[in-house]
Amino acid sequence: MSRFSEELHRAMHESPNGLVTGEPDAPTFRRWSEVFATAQRWAAGLARHGVGHGDSVAILVAQPADVAPLIQAVWLRGAVFTMLHQPTPRTDLETWVGDTIEVLDMLDARFVVVGTPFEPVESLLTDRGLTVLDTAVLADDSAAEPIPTQVEQVPVAEDDLAILQLTSGSTGTPKAVAVSHRNLYRNHLAMVAASAGTSADVTVSWLPLFHDMGMVGFLIEPMICGGTAVCMTPMDFLTAPLLWPELITKYRGTMTAAPNFAYSVLARRLRSAPDGAYDLSSLRFVLNGAEPIDMATIDLLLEAGGRFGLRPEAMVAAYGMAEATLAVSFSPLDQPLAAEHVDVERLEVDRLAVPVDGPGTRAFVPLGSPLPGLEARVVDRTRSVVPHRQIGEIEIRGEAVTRRYLTPAGYQPAVDTDDWFPTGDLGYLTDAGEVVISGRKKDLIIIAGRNLSPADIEKAAGRVAGVRNGGTAAVPLQNDGGREDFAVIVESDQVDDEADCLRIRSEVSQSVLDRMGATPGSVLVVAKGTLPKTPSGKIRRTAARELVESR
Ligand code: ATP
Ligand code: MG
Repeated sequence: MSRFSEELHRAMHESPNGLVTGEPDAPTFRRWSEVFATAQRWAAGLARHGVGHGDSVAILVAQPADVAPLIQAVWLRGAVFTMLHQPTPRTDLETWVGDTIEVLDMLDARFVVVGTPFEPVESLLTDRGLTVLDTAVLADDSAAEPIPTQVEQVPVAEDDLAILQLTSGSTGTPKAVAVSHRNLYRNHLAMVAASAGTSADVTVSWLPLFHDMGMVGFLIEPMICGGTAVCMTPMDFLTAPLLWPELITKYRGTMTAAPNFAYSVLARRLRSAPDGAYDLSSLRFVLNGAEPIDMATIDLLLEAGGRFGLRPEAMVAAYGMAEATLAVSFSPLDQPLAAEHVDVERLEVDRLAVPVDGPGTRAFVPLGSPLPGLEARVVDRTRSVVPHRQIGEIEIRGEAVTRRYLTPAGYQPAVDTDDWFPTGDLGYLTDAGEVVISGRKKDLIIIAGRNLSPADIEKAAGRVAGVRNGGTAAVPLQNDGGREDFAVIVESDQVDDEADCLRIRSEVSQSVLDRMGATPGSVLVVAKGTLPKTPSGKIRRTAARELVESR
């Protein structure tokens, strides 16, 4: 049996803690031993449906109460699971079904397990000839027979796959990161070491379980640690953001995580909450990751959360990705975050991060040193290692890092012959060896020899009245003469008002010029919700570029 499975089973049997899930206003608690008992019943159901060692099972379920036993059931069968991208009320279902069929073909999945709240789309899949199973069927099936108390774990080796984690698919072609039992176990050891996690921790999360941060960080980790996991859905958070601090207060949460944007939502809501409404003093690990971190957001959060006992030293800046199973680096524990200010000119022209004070600087939040068992280095275009503070591509290596991707053409290597994985992220290492991300390789905008950051351009555009918060994208373009140029796309409620659109376009140009010293070749004003985003909510700049090119 893999070390991962051994440790997981031990935690499931021995831990007095468990999983809190369900309706936000009436959460229910189940001990891990109960979750595991359900997993065993469902594993028996999966076995009856022919799932065995190495088989692939696709899951379309959002409710953590069902996902937790389901993934364990898949593992008990020695199989591998994939969380499918989930449709939202805004999803075009026709396209979604097409994409899903492509993904299922790639995975060679026996069937899709469909559960809450996706029962209504079940027929869309069966209409296309797919085999669908629901969690009720798995459970009922086995209830007809004596419920096995001990289902044998199908033996798995360290290099057997545990998860085929879909990437966000910024290119449109499906791709999955192959996560082995060894990868999961190594990531677990590294995270426990860097976060000082124990079974006494209470994690509180609403993160989507089809994304690695929610799945690995806030479901699998608390399971294998035997901690307490409070799991809500992204829908619960979007409907009522204050549910988040409410659950932290109620369950004395010690760890939580979210991308930067969610903390700015939280900060705004906390600011208008009455004194004493929440108690956030139990939090010791508040992780900000998955997207660029803005120090201003952290300051706002600490200001608003301070009234409720949120401590600055609880904040953690993190770097992670599915290819590393999850975590690459965490900023040091029990220390407040501090941004590093570097000279913009040197950054853009010399690709060098030179710390300076005063104006003309760009702020980066260092993301900590690589976790135990991981190495990180920065390389130039020829893949030679560059000195600290020089910008280049970040590469990582370690036993938590995937060796291969699954694509429609089969498995392909993800790492080079020395096992280095090129992340596609640009950044540098600080003097202390902490990782800083400055952007993504494919998003880089180069104008007249200067490397402009799309995030900075987007921030400048976002200052204009009428532009939707978070609804901006800056993309590189070639202009008619073949010269390097860039475009800015902004979402606005005022798209139908021609005069207002004109004003927004000229103010965006001006604001970008003022702050970046470069004028966008074009500014496009589009309706709210037009900008293409990944299932986890990141802007897909490559797809956004097509919006401009198609005009
Ligand atoms: P795809 O690979 O399909 O394009 P993705 O890279 O967004 O999708 P994830 O594995 O969810 O998929 O995200 C990892 C990426 O998120 C990193 O490579 C990096 O670009 C970005 N990221 C993670 N943490 C941070 C952070 N703290 N600051 C800036 N960017 C981050
Ligand atoms: Mg990626």
